[in-house]
Amino acid sequence: MTKAFRCFVATLFAALLLISPAPVFAQNPAQQQQSVPSFMAAPQASQAAQHNFPPLLLQQLSAIKAAALNDDYAYRQLAHLTENIGPRPTGSPQARAAAEYVATELRKLGLDVVLQQVTVPHWVRGAEAAALIEYAGMVPGTTQKIVLSALGSSTATPADGLTTEVVTVDTFEELQALGRDKVAGKIVLFNEIFDKQKAAAGLAFAAYGEAVRYRAAGPKAAADLGAVAALVRSVGSADYRLPHTGFSFPAAIPAAAVTAEDADLIAHLSAQGKVRMHLTLTPQKLPDETSYNVIADLKGSEHAEQVVVVSGHLDSWDLGTGAIDDGAGVVMAMETVEVLQRLHLRPARTLRVIAWMDEETGGSGAKTYTAEFSHDFPHHIAAIESDAGAAHPLGFDIKATPAAIDVLRPIQSVLQSIGATVLQSTTYPPGADISAMSDAGVPAFGVMQDGRTYFNYHHTAADTLDKVVPSELRENAAAMAVLAYALTNMKDPLPR
Ligand SMILES: [Zn+2]
Repeated sequence: MTKAFRCFVATLFAALLLISPAPVFAQNPAQQQQSVPSFMAAPQASQAAQHNFPPLLLQQLSAIKAAALNDDYAYRQLAHLTENIGPRPTGSPQARAAAEYVATELRKLGLDVVLQQVTVPHWVRGAEAAALIEYAGMVPGTTQKIVLSALGSSTATPADGLTTEVVTVDTFEELQALGRDKVAGKIVLFNEIFDKQKAAAGLAFAAYGEAVRYRAAGPKAAADLGAVAALVRSVGSADYRLPHTGFSFPAAIPAAAVTAEDADLIAHLSAQGKVRMHLTLTPQKLPDETSYNVIADLKGSEHAEQVVVVSGHLDSWDLGTGAIDDGAGVVMAMETVEVLQRLHLRPARTLRVIAWMDEETGGSGAKTYTAEFSHDFPHHIAAIESDAGAAHPLGFDIKATPAAIDVLRPIQSVLQSIGATVLQSTTYPPGADISAMSDAGVPAFGVMQDGRTYFNYHHTAADTLDKVVPSELRENAAAMAVLAYALTNMKDPLPR
């Protein structure tokens, strides 16, 4: 996920909701008036909500939830994507194979599948190594290893590396204050600390948004002052000396994420005197490749021209196998149609599964989809993307009108047994790949997961299948499927 500020506000409100009682529907309003304080009273379903959710639809939604909670289809698909296919970096043969695999699986479910051609960048990791070779108190002959991993779009050092002084800054302002004289010819380390307490308290995306600015824009800021390379403190919440890679705006210099532990080491030694580093990074920018978005339709029985999108992104970073980011989102969308087919439930509007390509390095998949389909966005009734892991779902981040959110309140009662009742209004698109649709007015939904451990593994070698708890993945699939079928089968399209 590259969306820097996603969930900043949403997570704040989500946390507030978490410490408040979940909305519940009173069995007996009169009784509720007597026994429940007013601040706990749940909103009654509005007339529009009741009109859109007749009893049969509510029964179908409960059946969908139950079916998804008793099925391991999503997990089996995730195991194939992560273990049999493996890491799926944009432009790689594995990413393309993953698109072909998902297309085949969705055809097996009876969907009309198109592989939409996308021209994608192709950056490949090379050697990466670093060591401190001069610092205060160094015992002659010491090699003080620095653990790091190149950022996407990093250029290469000479094959045998470069050696120069490291300048540590905490902020962009500090960098500017140093000026070109003190930066040119050196390696700049941005030492912005990921706020682990915030993450542990349920505000992980807020913490991410604060720190990831330096990963995204730090290398360019350093290059503009003549730095020969840039390092950023890893944007992550675990302490296992793991580097967290990620996208960085092209800066035409070598750029890497160092582990939090090594950022501390460099900062501590820099406070005592000059620190010099030997740095070797040899990634390559290869020619652009052809890859694919997978677009698969389960045609609507009544309003085939109206489309509801369920989606996740297929590409991953190369260090892990992309289980939580974002194989999980793709298989939730696959499970949505698998459950409907198994229950012989035909959507009234067309349900469109999209497995996006290249969310991580520039969004070329979403841009290609927008170029081909933006004329049809008025018929896109809603779009859902899950791209925040596979931990227990809390509900949804929603960029839509208050009236649209109000109409959806009946799904809270369906999802209450798994706790996914939060319908959180956001001011920004709740998914990178659906942001153009959202900006065009399409109601947009992100599955809101418990993000407290997400950034322990995000963009690291530890983003692997074992991090996905099967029962939590099933809850997520249930939440996505219930919302998607509600959107395809409500009487009226969601207001916008
Ligand atoms: Zn992602």
